[in-house]
Amino acid sequence: MIKNTNIVKKANQALVLDSIMKNKKITIEEIMNQTGLSRTTVLSILKDLSEKKLIEKRGRVHQSVGRQPVLYALSRDEYFVIGVDVDVAPIYLNIARLDGKSVYSRQWEVSLNANANELESALIKNIETALSVAKISRKKIIGLGLGLPGIINVNQNRATEISRIRGWKEDNCIAEVLEEKFGFPIYVRNDTHLLGHMEVTSEGENMLYILHRSGIGMAPVINGEVYEGTFGNSGYIGHTRVDSKGKICNCGAKDCLELYCSKRSIEAEYEHASGKTSGYDELISLAEEGDPAAIKIFEHAGHYLGIGISNAMKTYDISNVVLGDLRCDENHVFYQQILLSVKQHMVNVSIKEPTVILSKYTKEMYGLGACQFVLENFFEQPKLHTNIDENGGEWLENESL
Ligand SMILES: [Zn+2]
Repeated sequence: MIKNTNIVKKANQALVLDSIMKNKKITIEEIMNQTGLSRTTVLSILKDLSEKKLIEKRGRVHQSVGRQPVLYALSRDEYFVIGVDVDVAPIYLNIARLDGKSVYSRQWEVSLNANANELESALIKNIETALSVAKISRKKIIGLGLGLPGIINVNQNRATEISRIRGWKEDNCIAEVLEEKFGFPIYVRNDTHLLGHMEVTSEGENMLYILHRSGIGMAPVINGEVYEGTFGNSGYIGHTRVDSKGKICNCGAKDCLELYCSKRSIEAEYEHASGKTSGYDELISLAEEGDPAAIKIFEHAGHYLGIGISNAMKTYDISNVVLGDLRCDENHVFYQQILLSVKQHMVNVSIKEPTVILSKYTKEMYGLGACQFVLENFFEQPKLHTNIDENGGEWLENESL
């Protein structure tokens, strides 16, 4: 028996919102058809959502006979979300509308040697600039997703360690500092997990999103949702062991995957082999132009990244992979070598041929994954479970975030 009518109301509201979000613009009749709710219920929910300024009327259906039904859509200018993707040194920021569309993007550099205080000041300054340039009041911001490349504790909304940022302390409370400053909620998450949110293309999808940067991260997407793990660190494959050469990683362990194939290690390998210092993007071009040292290094790196990816594919029984931030095309030796290595290491263990594709997102969109995360939280549908004891059962609402 459903005792709590509030839960039913929330569930119905979630159905209506879902139908508006999926259709972009929709009539009352269509909402009724899609949700199975009565006209009275739909009208009452639409009134409620309009009062909260979450939805608005946007035009009418043009038809030659009869009345022209009103179309409803998510509000365009009432609420926004901010997403920040910290890939030291570049930091990417996007502001998005309720429908997830980006209305503003910004990118800035911090010094490779930036310490925690410098990072914090740069974040504050650039968020202020973004709001001012985009002409959006902070009162209209629902929340900000902050992706950090470190060890996260989602229960405390903190990053307990970021090895790339000097002076980052276990009790660093960047979320509290930004919340105090701006007055909207801040969500600290793993950078790769946030980017993974924008790669989900269908409900129920299983996929591994691998982010190739100065470290290597992964977001396992299970049944269409990013699986965060107990503390928000699932998919920490950059620090899984792939060899026994005894190379020491900055995490303190030996032979971690990222020592063999991250952007930073590719740059270091090239410097070691040629005596020349080149950035990752330049090395991608050099390999395309036929530079033998660059080609060899990408072959080597691709081989190891393929091992890391296939280990994850076997662990999760997931055969679809999306590679983020590789910054090359499908003809590049790096991508080709990754593909080859994955196929070699998946022989006899996969039912379906593994697919490894390149993400279509470019750096102007890297903040959008965090925007997507904040929106998913905001529009989260009520999760219900039953509580059955000797007196019978009742529906309860799960406590969410
Ligand atoms: Zn390591």
